[in-house]
Amino acid sequence: MFAKLKTIASLSILVGAVLLLAKVEETFKLYNIPYILIAFGFIFLIVSLLATNKEESLLCRIGLHRYERISRDSEIPAMFLYECERCGKKKKAASTI
Ligand SMILES: [Zn+2]
Repeated sequence: MFAKLKTIASLSILVGAVLLLAKVEETFKLYNIPYILIAFGFIFLIVSLLATNKEESLLCRIGLHRYERISRDSEIPAMFLYECERCGKKKKAASTI
């Protein structure tokens, strides 16, 4: 159910953004519909992310992890291992520093 909600939310953000960019309001009277679509889209998206993801931190659940560099990748020297200090999620990323 929440997967569907996520799709609907993404779509309404997309449609809202397209309506804004296309300046459809000059042709049709849309009033604040694009803004409302985007705002509702974001609310639904965050709600569905909060409901489906299981990280302890609410910020982590909506994808805002706080990554810390923990080590260099053993195989590729330009890659670093990062770990979220709140939920422990790991990711690999290249770094130029
Ligand atoms: Zn996290």
